[in-house]
Amino acid sequence: MNVSDSTPPAPLAERFSRIDGSALREILALTARPGVISFAGGLPAPELFDAGALQESFAAALGRPHQSLQYSTTDGDPDLREAIAARYAARGFRVDAGELLVTSGSQQALSLAATALLDEGDVALVEDPGYLAALQCFTFAGARTVPVATDDDGILPDALEETVRRERPKLLYLVPNFQNPTGRTLPADRRRAIAALAARYGFWIVEDDPYGELRYDGTPLPPVAAEPAAADRTILLGSLSKIMAPGLRLGWLHAPEAALSACATAKQSADLHTSTVAQAAAAAYLTRYDLDAHVAKMRGVYAERRDAMLAGLPAALPVGSTWNRPDGGMFIWARLPEDRDATTLLRRAVDQDVAFVPGAPFYAGEPDRATLRLSFTSYPPAEIDEGLARLAKAASA
Ligand code: PMP
Repeated sequence: MNVSDSTPPAPLAERFSRIDGSALREILALTARPGVISFAGGLPAPELFDAGALQESFAAALGRPHQSLQYSTTDGDPDLREAIAARYAARGFRVDAGELLVTSGSQQALSLAATALLDEGDVALVEDPGYLAALQCFTFAGARTVPVATDDDGILPDALEETVRRERPKLLYLVPNFQNPTGRTLPADRRRAIAALAARYGFWIVEDDPYGELRYDGTPLPPVAAEPAAADRTILLGSLSKIMAPGLRLGWLHAPEAALSACATAKQSADLHTSTVAQAAAAAYLTRYDLDAHVAKMRGVYAERRDAMLAGLPAALPVGSTWNRPDGGMFIWARLPEDRDATTLLRRAVDQDVAFVPGAPFYAGEPDRATLRLSFTSYPPAEIDEGLARLAKAASA
C-alpha cells in the first residue's frame, strides 16, 4: 500500500482528553536526576524491605510450583485473605475473609471500586487537596470529581453536607489516616459524622487506607467502615505496599456483598487475578514471620526521620512558612508565606539538587499554589539535614 493512501488512525478514547497527568510527571522527571535529594516521591525506604524473609517466602511459594505458577481464582489466595482478616481482627475490626478481594495493589482496588459504583456523569466527592491518582481514576470512569473543603483535620462535615445536598454524589473518597498529600488524619467524631451523612443521603464511601499502620504517635482510630451507620455502604481498601513492599503489587478491598461481587467481575476483565506467586509468598511470609515486629521497626525509623525533618524545616523554608506535624505516614504538608508559588521554589531547589512536590496538582478545586508536600521516609536524618540545607539556599536565592 502506498503510504499516501493511508488514513490516520482513529482518535484515542475521548476520556483521555479529560485527563492531564503531565504536570506532576514533568515535575517528578526533574527530580529524578542523580545527586538530587528528593523529598518528592512517596517511596518506602528500600533498606527497610525485609528482603531476606521475602526471598525465603518466595522460595517457599515456588517450592509448590504446581500451585504457585498456575492461574488462580479472581477472589485471591484463601490463606492470604485469612491472614488479612486476622490482621483486621487484631485491631478490633471483625472481617470475614470471604468479604475480601485481593487486588494488584490498592490502586487496582480503587479502579475496581470506580467501575463498580460510577456511571458516566455521576459525581465523586474528593478531599481537597487529595490523592491525584484517585482523581484520575474517577475521571476515567466518566465521573465529575467535586472537591470538599478541608482543614488541618481533613474533611469538614458541614462542608460535606452542604456539597452532598447540592451535588447528590454517588460516592465520597477518603484517605482518613495520614492522607496523601497532606499527612492529615480524620478525628473519630468526623468519621462518625461522615458515616451518618452517608447513611442519611445514601452515598457510598471509598475508604483508602494504605498508611494506617504507619502511626508514630497517638492511638489508632477505627476505620469509617467499622461505623455501624456506614458498614453497608463502605468499600475499604488496604495494601501491603507501605508495610511490606510496593513491588509485590498486593492490595485488597473489603466490601458489602453486591459491591464485592461487582468488583470481582470487573477484576476478571482487568487481569483475571493478582499474581499467584506474589500472593502465595505474602501468605507464606505472614505465617512464618512477624509482620507486626517488622512494622514496629519501620515506625521507629520513620518517626526519627519525620522528627529530623520537622527539626530542620524552620531553617529551610522562608520565614513565615507553616507546616503540620503528622502523627504517621510519609508526608509533611507545608505552606509558603505571602502566597509565594511553590513551583518557583521547586525550580530553584532543583538547581540546588533538592526536590519536593508543589501542592497545586493535588487540588480538584482552586489550587493553593503556596503549598507543598515533603516526604520524609526515604533518607536517614543526616541526608534529610543536607537536603534541607540545600532547600534553605534555594529559598534564600
Ligand atoms: N492510595 C493512596 C492514598 C496512595 O498514596 C497510594 C500510593 N501512593 C495508593 C493508594 C496506591 O498504592 P498501592 O497500589 O501500591 O497499594
